[in-house]
Amino acid sequence: VDEDWLRLPNPWHVPVDICAAEDVPIESSAIDEILTVLQTAGTLERLGGDAAITRVVLTPDLHKGAGIPIGTVLRTRGALIPQAVGNDINCGMRVETTSLTADDVRPRLDALERRLRHLFFEGGRRIALTAAQREGLLRDGLPGLLDAGPPPNDGVWSALREDERHDRIHRARYPTTTAEPFRDWITSAGGTSYDSIIGSVGGGNHFAELQYVAAVHDRQAAYAWGFELGQVVSMVHSGSLSLGHQANADGMDQARAAWPQELPAPDNKIIPMSLDERSATRRGRYLDALGNAANFAVGNRFFLSLMLRTGLAAECGDLTADLVYDAPHNLLWQDGDTVTHRKGATPAGGYEETAGGPYALWGEPVIVPGSMGAASYILRGRGNPRSLASACHGAGRRVPRGAASRANDKELDAFLREFRVVTPLDHRDPKVTHRTDVLAAWRRDLKQEAPWVYKDIGPVVSSLRDAGVADPVVELRPLLTVKG
Ligand code: 5GP
Ligand code: MN
Ligand code: MN
Repeated sequence: VDEDWLRLPNPWHVPVDICAAEDVPIESSAIDEILTVLQTAGTLERLGGDAAITRVVLTPDLHKGAGIPIGTVLRTRGALIPQAVGNDINCGMRVETTSLTADDVRPRLDALERRLRHLFFEGGRRIALTAAQREGLLRDGLPGLLDAGPPPNDGVWSALREDERHDRIHRARYPTTTAEPFRDWITSAGGTSYDSIIGSVGGGNHFAELQYVAAVHDRQAAYAWGFELGQVVSMVHSGSLSLGHQANADGMDQARAAWPQELPAPDNKIIPMSLDERSATRRGRYLDALGNAANFAVGNRFFLSLMLRTGLAAECGDLTADLVYDAPHNLLWQDGDTVTHRKGATPAGGYEETAGGPYALWGEPVIVPGSMGAASYILRGRGNPRSLASACHGAGRRVPRGAASRANDKELDAFLREFRVVTPLDHRDPKVTHRTDVLAAWRRDLKQEAPWVYKDIGPVVSSLRDAGVADPVVELRPLLTVKG
């Protein structure tokens, strides 16, 4: 259509807009996949009422997913589509600023690496929540956790109160009517037993990263959000772990059960749920489980950030930290008859969407990580209706996992010499250096996450800016990445 937007013609006449400048690679397999997804327009017609796909937006990090591409924003009328949320419900990014500078941290990286390995992977995290706190978190997010005291640990509660004082935890709260789908997890809490799930990063592309502000592109917004040149920032990418998978599987069961028996099953295996009265009970059950999992993910990201703070405080001295934003990228939003699904896409609201809140003047913070070892960006959303007020949530995979794991070993070695990645396994530990099988598996996993398997972040961010979707505020560079 123009330099920053493409439009995908399709037999169902659904408006499909792709935000990507010419220098951003888009795989044809992702385009084939979205064309198959669009068959759901026909499915919705058969479902009746006036159910329809009204708009689709594809973000610059678009790549092939399992059934629905990563980087898909799908707006429907009269129906919702559990699969369009993605398997990892409320996978998202959380960013905090700290009072430390890169110079405070760099000389302490060896000790910090050991400390974080212990906290994240060797039983050091010791998070104990009561049944009431677990239920509070699932039903009502971090405010629910805060209200379900008494505190098992002062640090946790003062961190939460601080976030609440800034009115920031209320935006990342997904109200539900019940946490019944997760009764087992809730009641398995014993007074001092440590949670084995909360505080896990999760595998693959999830991470907990320490970065520093390497460049400021918008001085006023950076100042308003608490960013300063050279300052240490934490960025956490994680989802709802096993709880989200349970909610997602249950949602698919509800959708299948609610599907009218007289209609054939959809060819593309994408099963929508009508918003009509007949499916109300099943839909309500799914939406509660979705909200519970979404709240759990926000809680998990909070604890992961707190673990980074704890490691920093122990090795680099006292610090304060402030939440900038918690951004969901696998979720749906219902507004009356209209449902906006984002799978691997992040909200990028402008002034209108954030009016009155702490982001009112600058728009919504948009968190766009690059890869371990590359730059990441914080932008401010412009609420562009052409993008359905949505942006990409990363650079996006360029090389499929299989091909990535066959990559050159020399390249990986060079990367490991230059960059510090904290994993459950210490590849320099004499106890593991002779386990060639273990090291080979570890190297294969790392290759799938190496910087060269992701798109170049520069053109991705320029696409967002030039397309009027979001404007860069700060550029962040990594100091250390914890990979699950
Ligand atoms: P997804 O949510 O689709 O799993 O991935 C989000 C994005 O995170 C990826 O597209 C990639 O650009 C980015 N990413 C993956 N691993 C890392 C990492 O270790 N550090 C940073 N900063 N970004 C990463
Ligand atoms: Mn995820
Ligand atoms: Mn994710």
